[in-house]
Amino acid sequence: MANDVTTDISVQTFDALVVGAGFSGLYQLHRLRDDLGLRVKVLERAGDVGGTWYWNRYPGARCDSESHSYCYMFSKELVEEWEWSERYPGQPEVLGYLNHVADRFDLRRDIQFETSVSSARFDAERTLWRVETAGGEVFEAPFLIMAVGCLSAANVPDIPGLGDFRGRWYHTGQWPHEGVDFTGLRVGQIGTGSTGIQTAPLIAEQAARLTVFQRTANYSIPARNHPLSEGFKRYVKENHDEIRRMMHFSPNGHSFLPSDRSALDSTPEERERVYEAAWEIGGLRFRTAYRDIIASEAANKTAADFIKKKIREIVKDPATAEVLADIDHPYGSKRPPIDTGYFETFNRENVSLVDLRATPIERVTETGIRTTDRDYPLDAIVFATGFDAMTGPLLRIDIQGRDGLPLREVWKAGPHGYLGLQVPGFPNLFTVTGPGSPSVLCNMPVPIEQHVDWITDCIRHLRGKGLATIEATEAAARDWDRHVNDVANQTVMPKAPHSWYFGANIPGKPRQFMPYAGGMRRYREICADIAAKGYAGFKLA
Ligand code: NAP
Repeated sequence: MANDVTTDISVQTFDALVVGAGFSGLYQLHRLRDDLGLRVKVLERAGDVGGTWYWNRYPGARCDSESHSYCYMFSKELVEEWEWSERYPGQPEVLGYLNHVADRFDLRRDIQFETSVSSARFDAERTLWRVETAGGEVFEAPFLIMAVGCLSAANVPDIPGLGDFRGRWYHTGQWPHEGVDFTGLRVGQIGTGSTGIQTAPLIAEQAARLTVFQRTANYSIPARNHPLSEGFKRYVKENHDEIRRMMHFSPNGHSFLPSDRSALDSTPEERERVYEAAWEIGGLRFRTAYRDIIASEAANKTAADFIKKKIREIVKDPATAEVLADIDHPYGSKRPPIDTGYFETFNRENVSLVDLRATPIERVTETGIRTTDRDYPLDAIVFATGFDAMTGPLLRIDIQGRDGLPLREVWKAGPHGYLGLQVPGFPNLFTVTGPGSPSVLCNMPVPIEQHVDWITDCIRHLRGKGLATIEATEAAARDWDRHVNDVANQTVMPKAPHSWYFGANIPGKPRQFMPYAGGMRRYREICADIAAKGYAGFKLA
């Protein structure tokens, strides 16, 4: 096969390949290259580092985790030299941080940008992953680490007529780098998840008119963003170890802990005081006002009722308030958004709300959006419609394990794997924050650092022992799938079966709860225990 020989001459070989240069890929490169001394190549489809923060440049894009905890904690020096300016960093600041990390650790020289991985196939005879790119390049390495992120495959719903629209349309996760000027335009926004709730107030300030198309009403808590005081910045630098310890101890990787009290042990008056105080503090801390808000439906209802009451108080038009407060799922059963002036936006003259439950979208026309009862003339449409989450970024690559086994086949009925780190039949393939990992239920840098450290230790272990492969066993993966399902059932999350946690936002996607709801602390202990037992549940060969 002369052609194959010719192709193989241009194969680039490494000790490990990493796909993605966001939070996960950057740290994975640093650990494998600078700590293990491996030859590593990172392949990244974007033009620069940043992952989700490279793509999501929509107005109002801001992190929902507090800045002093939304960062790497592996390097004390890095923590000490970087200074966050606000409680919640905006997209440019997070991207600036990741650029700083790439420069500081000299990472760019081993990253190839504008390189889309199209396939990855395991060659069992040579114990190598063979990775091909859309540009026709071939890379090989014994280890392949997929650091592709959980929310990187944008979901533009298949609404009839979009091709006919004469205006411009945008997805928030693929926002133009030069920005969009909505001045004087009539803008339609579809989607009221975390993204839509962040962007609507900013678009409303600029556009002539904003029409928000809401399918499912959503909770939101005021972020109460503010510049960080000099005192707080000093506290962060001087208390690195303590903050890190707290992030490792907390169930979701944040730098704060849930209350130890049950909402059901408080009198209604006490609860009102507690929720009022939590509402004033704002952000994701609201969820920790009581320990059982996510675990108990009855406790959850007290929080949900409080937020619905707040929505009705903020929004002046009673009919609009009713549509916004008509929320059909428990608080926190879908990812809880935080906002800056979201509900207040509906008090503006130039903003209106369309209830898609009452009047669904029929189609996009040349001039706007047609619902079942009327036409909305628009100059621009913003799709804040989310992502094919967790599995999407992996399945859009043709990944084949032993004997040509396609990942698409293995996950036909839903994701299946061990710890969110490996899938049986795919030796030496690791997923950072894959399905089954605590990932999106946490402050993301925390599971990312833990996964990368675990993978690095694992590869060090294999190389130290002269072992060639590690592969999750079928039995361990089946047990983990069951455990992921069981712990989800101990929370209110299954009460929102229409959430993206279940894959329900993508037509035809199998419904299965994907992230691990057992908490980061518990997950970390499980992973450490498995490694200490010689990688129990994995075959090492
Ligand atoms: P999302 O939570 O999936 O929300 C998508 C929105 O679009 C929902 O309101 C959904 O309605 C609506 N939608 C989808 N398809 C539709 C259709 N065909 N017709 C009408 N409405 C439709 O997506 P997201 O807001 O981009 O957030 C995704 C995740 O990204 C978040 O949950 C969070 O984890 C992360 N995120 C983080 C931050 C941060 O930390 N700063 C900010 C933004 C996002 P339904 O609810 O009815 O499906």
